[in-house]
Amino acid sequence: MDLAVLGIQEPDPTPSLFSHDSVYDGREQLNCFITHTNENTHRIVLASLVHSSLLATEPLGKSSGHCPTLEEMVVRHGKEWQHRVFLQLEGRAAQEFHLQGVPTALPLPVQEQMVRSMKGLEGCEITTPGYAVEYAYLSPLQLNVFLEHRSIKGLFFAGQVAGSNGYEEAAALGLTAGINAALRARGKEMLVLDRTQAYIGVLVDDFTRKEQKEPYRMLTSRDEYRLALRHDNADRQLAEIGHKLGLISREQVGRIKEKHTRVTFQHEICTEESRELR
Ligand SMILES: Cc1cc2nc3c(=O)[nH]c(=O)nc-3n(C[C@H](O)[C@H](O)[C@H](O)COP(=O)(O)OP(=O)(O)OC[C@H]3O[C@@H](n4cnc5c(N)ncnc54)[C@H](O)[C@@H]3O)c2cc1C
Repeated sequence: MDLAVLGIQEPDPTPSLFSHDSVYDGREQLNCFITHTNENTHRIVLASLVHSSLLATEPLGKSSGHCPTLEEMVVRHGKEWQHRVFLQLEGRAAQEFHLQGVPTALPLPVQEQMVRSMKGLEGCEITTPGYAVEYAYLSPLQLNVFLEHRSIKGLFFAGQVAGSNGYEEAAALGLTAGINAALRARGKEMLVLDRTQAYIGVLVDDFTRKEQKEPYRMLTSRDEYRLALRHDNADRQLAEIGHKLGLISREQVGRIKEKHTRVTFQHEICTEESRELR
């Protein structure tokens, strides 16, 4: 691979961490590199469509909208278009790069031609080919708002097997189902977050009440309260609930409250100063 001719995507100067309680350890972040598909790549894809294992199940261009394959994108957008591909090093000591942006169900010899048609990748070797994933899942309409099966009490579902797709979706549903399984076992009132409180509320509500045509992905556009629900205030919205459930300590709640007191104070100063400027 010729990294010198590729575009560079620099990391965030300060990475965002999953938990407000986590502290960035200052570890050096790595660059990603950028290349693009081109007309030649798309010609190779179009000439090989008949070999796509997706053809066996779905008409091309009609499967999951969230993770389309390159062949679906080429069918949709044609030859004269380019698609950005990120090259992510597999690890600090790794020699291999993951190509993000070229999911495919085409066979290995076609993948080799496709990848080598991209700038900077002319001499690369594929060590782990892409592959199509097919799986079965329950209809989430079989679950109630506690993520418990409607007709089998005490059986809870979450994640991909329940009809979602994605890391955060699986984590959010798993947390909710786990909390409720524990509450059910203790004979306590179960947890339902509503749509005004958390994205989890929107996810569970959509998931268990509305028919989905494809595996459910949480998108900000699904949330009618998205101006109010943000990652910077989720801790304030949910701290007391988390403490009541025994998931976070009183000290953690105290730190969250103290942080938001400071935010409110700064907000008041800004409001005051902008009033004076007018
Ligand atoms: C190639 C690929 C790329 C993806 N990229 C992204 C991405 O960039 N962003 C994103 O948000 N999502 C992505 N996803 C989707 C995401 O990975 C899944 O939706 C999510 O991991 C599902 O989590 P889960 O816990 O429900 O299931 P899984 O992560 O599949 O966990 C199920 C676990 O159950 C175990 N298991 C199965 N049967 C048994 C058994 N009988 N006994 C005990 N254990 C068992 C399995 O080994 C597995 O560890 C990607 C998926 C794939 C395949």
